[in-house]
Amino acid sequence: MAGAARVVDVSVRLVMLGPPGAGKGTQAERFAKARHVSRISTGDVLRQARLENQELDRQARVTMDAGRLVDDDVVIGIVRRRLAEPDAKGGFVLDGFPRTLNQAEALDHLLDDRQPLVVVDIEVPEATLFERLRTRRVCSKCGTPATAVLAVCSSCGGPLVQRTDDDLRVIRERLRVYEQESQPIVEFYRRRPTFRSVDGDQPQESVAADISSAVASVLGAR
Ligand code: AMP
Repeated sequence: MAGAARVVDVSVRLVMLGPPGAGKGTQAERFAKARHVSRISTGDVLRQARLENQELDRQARVTMDAGRLVDDDVVIGIVRRRLAEPDAKGGFVLDGFPRTLNQAEALDHLLDDRQPLVVVDIEVPEATLFERLRTRRVCSKCGTPATAVLAVCSSCGGPLVQRTDDDLRVIRERLRVYEQESQPIVEFYRRRPTFRSVDGDQPQESVAADISSAVASVLGAR
């Protein structure tokens, strides 16, 4: 039709990379809402399984509390099941997965190559990460992220709590584990034309805008 803008809705498959405290969860949530795709967070699935006392072996609980990584088999199984659900077919944002090279390779095997896997790495200096994690709170009722400066949840007024793994000693361990286990994944993806990195040390809105442009630059370039 002459003059009419052609809207091409390319469903997105996005991996959000970044250290603990980089804002992956917040940004993944925003992106998923804006693009009407599913957000898949392995951390959320694991925490939910614990809350509901579902089968999650004792070893996985101890590992999470210590800030270390749950076995690859467990998390790859979670993602395999989640990606097979109908909503994930319309696109997804993966938040907190992959975290090891093994998981990154498993993800490649789980996906067909009809659509590209866009990978966005959120970069934040370590001192900022530490401060963010130390003051991070979450609503115990609705799960909305918050900071220690707030008294109650800005979304539902519920009480704010600190995640058990946001304790100082565990924060240090999580940052160390990230450096050792997860940093190599950034190098694994960096060579791909679908990789972008964004500056995560700026206001939430600016990070969200940069992520959006990064994704558009990958999909638009195809
Ligand atoms: P997150 O909410 O993404 O920070 O994850 C919380 C915790 O869940 C991590 O510290 C790990 O113990 C565990 N976890 C989440 N995702 C993964 C993953 N992809 N591989 C291994 N452990 C994970």
